[in-house]
Amino acid sequence: MLVDSHCHLQSLDPEEREAALEAARERGVEGFLVPATKLDEADELLELCQRHGDVWCALGCHPHEAATWRRGDGERLSELLREPPVVAVGEIGLDFYYDHAPRRVQERVMREQCEVAIDAGLPVVVHNRESNEAMLELIAHPALDGLAADFHSFAGGKEMAAALIARDVYFGMSGMITFRAADNVREVIPQVPRQRLLVETDTPYLAPVPYRGKPNRPAYVVEVVERLAAELGIEVEEAVALTGENFFRLYAKAGPR
Ligand SMILES: [Zn+2]
Repeated sequence: MLVDSHCHLQSLDPEEREAALEAARERGVEGFLVPATKLDEADELLELCQRHGDVWCALGCHPHEAATWRRGDGERLSELLREPPVVAVGEIGLDFYYDHAPRRVQERVMREQCEVAIDAGLPVVVHNRESNEAMLELIAHPALDGLAADFHSFAGGKEMAAALIARDVYFGMSGMITFRAADNVREVIPQVPRQRLLVETDTPYLAPVPYRGKPNRPAYVVEVVERLAAELGIEVEEAVALTGENFFRLYAKAGPR
């Protein structure tokens, strides 16, 4: 089953959103995971999931928004995780490239959300940019034992991949793997155990070749899985089946509802 494991459909206007889902289904995409960037998106995302049985969401606070995280938001998140279409906590993480929030705040907010996820028995969707060292230190904390994670749009390099493979981490492959100059992103593909690979678009960003520079759409996860198959030296159908099984293993709460 072909699933776009990371698409920010909330960033499209409602009409575009419906058209994007339709176009993706026409190309064989059968599932969509939409990660929030802040808790205030919860109602909108839940409503979207309620209208579409093939859409699931993750709820949480993105590192860019970490400064908006309030006391009590952890409890609010815990409550929201009980809703059937919420299959993960996310998008959470660290971004030391943009530094939209102070690093200490980003770390505290990620850590708290990881604890909420562990309590709920759900995985986390992780954004990690220019923050490998702090990230490894954070997730190695004994309080986060048992954390399952999807490092989405992975571009952390071979050393980071090796460190993460030792943990229960999945690697989201995005349109970046189709970029001509992205050998550093592709080189981890043979290194990662196949059972840990996912495909995503990161809509509306990172459109794969031949759509590069245009707004990305979930339909283009086809180009991502095709390239992944080529890199692995397997048939496209095999890569679709593999990444689909991996998705439902990690996001075990996803499924017919
Ligand atoms: Zn994202």
